[in-house]
Order: sequence, then C-alpha cells, then structure tokens
Amino acid sequence: MSAAAPRVRFAPSPTGYLHVGGARTALFNLLFARREGGVLILRVEDTDIARSSQEMVREILEGLSWLGITHDEGPFYQSSYRGQHTARALAMLEEGKAYRCFCTAEAIDARKRAVEQRGAVWKYDRACLALDSGESRRRHEASEPSCLRIRVPEGETVYDDLVHGTTSFNNADIEDLVLLRTDGSPTYNLSCVSDDIDMRVTHVIRGDDHISNTPKQIIIYRALGAEPPRFGHLPLILGADKKRLSKRHGAVSVMEYQRLGFLPEALFNFLALLGWSPGGDREIMTREEIIEAFSFEGVGSRSAVFDLDKLTWMNSEYLKRRTGADLATLARPWFDAEGLWRPEFEDVRKEWFHALMELLKDRSRLLSELARDARPFLQPEFEYDPAAVDKHLKSETAVGRLTALRDTLAGLNGFDATAAETALRDLAARLGIKAGELIHPARVALTGRMVSPGIFAVMAMMGREAVVARLDRAARFVEADRAAAGDSR
Ligand code: GLU
Repeated sequence: MSAAAPRVRFAPSPTGYLHVGGARTALFNLLFARREGGVLILRVEDTDIARSSQEMVREILEGLSWLGITHDEGPFYQSSYRGQHTARALAMLEEGKAYRCFCTAEAIDARKRAVEQRGAVWKYDRACLALDSGESRRRHEASEPSCLRIRVPEGETVYDDLVHGTTSFNNADIEDLVLLRTDGSPTYNLSCVSDDIDMRVTHVIRGDDHISNTPKQIIIYRALGAEPPRFGHLPLILGADKKRLSKRHGAVSVMEYQRLGFLPEALFNFLALLGWSPGGDREIMTREEIIEAFSFEGVGSRSAVFDLDKLTWMNSEYLKRRTGADLATLARPWFDAEGLWRPEFEDVRKEWFHALMELLKDRSRLLSELARDARPFLQPEFEYDPAAVDKHLKSETAVGRLTALRDTLAGLNGFDATAAETALRDLAARLGIKAGELIHPARVALTGRMVSPGIFAVMAMMGREAVVARLDRAARFVEADRAAAGDSR
C-alpha cells in the first residue's frame, strides 16, 4: 500500500433511499478519509436505469448532507462512464482474458437443472471457452447474441481485509462471470472496478454483503493489469431481534430519523459506534473526537445491533447540549405541524420561548417531543396521560387540593418559582399533608404528564394566569370523571 493520502468512495445505487446501512458505510469512509487526510469521492451507481431515479439521488444527497457527510469529489454518475467500461471489457477479449459466450438462457437453464439434479452445485460450465477465436468472431459478426465472460484463472484469490484480515477464495468456486450482458450493458463488477481504477481509489470500504464480489473484482483488476485497492468489509447491522435490519424494525431511512425528530449529530455518533469502538466506555463523542480516534483496529467483525433506545438516549444527550435558541429553530417544523407556532416567539416572546426550550430540553428526547411537551405552556387544551390521571387525579381529595392550590396561587402578590414553592409548601403544612401530595396532582394538571421539569420552574414559565386556568381545568376534569364513574356504577 502506498503511503500517499487514501482515496475512498461511497458508491450508492439510487434504487432506494439512503438507509441506515448505507449511511454507516458512507460515514466510515468519511471517518477514514478525514483521519488519514484523504479524499472522499461520491459515485452514484445509476446503471440500473429501470430501478434508479432522480428522486432517490436527491434523497441520498439530502441524507448525506443532513448527516454532515461531505464528499470532496463528485457526485459522479456511473452511467456516464459506460463507454470506458465497455472498452475495458473488449480489451480483455482482445487479450484472451475474456471470451464470448453464445449459450442462451434456456440452454444454460437446462444444463443447470441437470447438474442440480445430481446434487452438484452449478457454475457456468465454460462451454464457450472451447470455441476458437475464429469461430467466435464469425458467429458474433453473423449477429448471434452473446455475452462476454471473464476467464477466471486457476489458483486462489487472497487479500488482506482491513476488518477480517487475510481472506482467501478458491478460484475453482468462482464462475466465469459476465462482464457485458447480451444487450451489451456492463455488469456491476466490471463498472465498479473500472471506475475505481479511473478514480484512483485506494481503499474500498463497504458492507459485508459485498464480500463475495471482492474476489471477482480482484480477478478483474488483475486481468486489466491494475493493482487492486485495499478492501474493508463492515459488519452487518441487525435489529434488536438479531435479524438483519429491515423495515420490520421501524425506520430504516436516514431522512425518516430526521422526520422523527432526531438530531444529525446524534445519528452521526450512533452510526459511528455501529461496528466501531474507540476503546474504553466512551460513547458520546463529537465528530472531531470520533475522527481523531477512528481506526480499522477498532472495527469488529461481529454484527452490530441497532438499538433504538440507545439512539434515543444519545439524542436526548445531544438535545441537552444545544442552546434554547438552537432548539427553537430546530424544533420549529414540529411546532408548525402541531399548530403551536406563533410569530411572537421570534419577536416579543423570543426570550421566553428560548427559556422554555431550555426548561424542556432535559426531559424531551426528540425535537418532536419538545413540541409535545411545550403544548401545555402554549394553549389551554392538551391531553392528560391516562396513567398519570389514574395515579394522581382519582382520589376523593384531588378536587379539593387542586382548588386550594389554585386559590392560594391566585392570591399571591408576586409570582415566581420561589413564591410558588413557598406558597405550596405552606399550604401543604396547613392541610397537614406532604408537599408531594400537592405537587403530583399539580404536575398532571399543568403538564398532563407524570414527569416534567421541576414543578416550580414549570409554574414560573407558564405564568400565574395559565397556572390558575390549568388547575381549574383539571379540577373540572376530575369532577366530570368522578361523576361519569358514579353514573356507570
Ligand atoms: N452500488 C453498490 C451498492 O450500493 C456499491 C458497492 C460498492 O461499494 O462497491 O451496494
């Protein structure tokens, strides 16, 4: 391997969105390139015209850019290099390293079935390798359809995988693979090698699902007289049930995580740890720290498990690191969607709104949860969590306590967290109950939930008028609830 700066590439096929596995591959290429002062190339492998779409290309680029995976060269589109792919295949034919195969699909199928009936494994039987070049040319010139196959040499193909170490394949197990299909179109293995040569790629870092392509590609490199790059295959990503990650496990598209309210830096950090470990128990790491620590020594060969709870936890950690002003901007789409956004949040109530985000960020785990948790601060109608109601608003004393608290707070001279706390604790003492017996029902009344930021900070943020109105509303709700329960008895 030369000591020159590495050149790596991310080569997505735009036949689907950017999924978690693809993003992890792109990310590891980025980390390696940045760590080694190399170059990241983006190559869109769009040769499957029927299944590729511009929309998918856009989605992939959007996902990469959202995650902060920035490439240095490209995007290049593989379909533009078809002429070069074909020329390389024909050069191999010229040099006797590839041959034309006139076997029809039906003929191959029949021979394959016969072999499989004997219980053997089918591999193209090289029927057309025996044709001499004169006959092959004559049949081709007479327009008989043919594909072009590479002649796999005898021996072994061995390479040193960056993740799995020395890996070897017996060439006897590899069939003479097709380079150009009957319609003249180049196959993936040919196009990929041809572009990697032209783009001077030094390291091919991709998913384990490509391991079986690697010996074939090395054989093509050698037939072309080119030095193969280093290869590194990243471990599979599994769902929590240890099955290969798929739609069954929920969101798999990167942009879906954005829509769910995850922060790009959280997903970046999380994906970096899918198969790589910096050693020790470090988990929350900045982009710079990850790049600094990255090496293939830390990449394991065992499958990585996608743990959504861990990602959600990481996201909550990253939310805490953002300022209220940042969060106001980032969470805006969810406030809009919930009909909660008001122009004054950017104007006369800007400071207040930023402070609200600061207050909520310790408990909200997603940007979407910020909007959910902010609702009771912004408008009188919100839902009560039924479990919270069962636990704290069902007792006979609930209405009396909510009303007493309401009256006490309404009668205060000034209203801030300290005044509210003193008043509540004094009231609890007068009623001969623990402060918690007022705090818990008040929390449900004010936020609808069992957990919230500190209740006195919540009160101060809401302001007295809203606090009083919500305590009233909860008292009415409890009365109605108890009446309904009485009716049904
Ligand atoms: N287009 C291939 C894929 O998306 C790329 C394989 C490679 O990196 O060589 O799986």
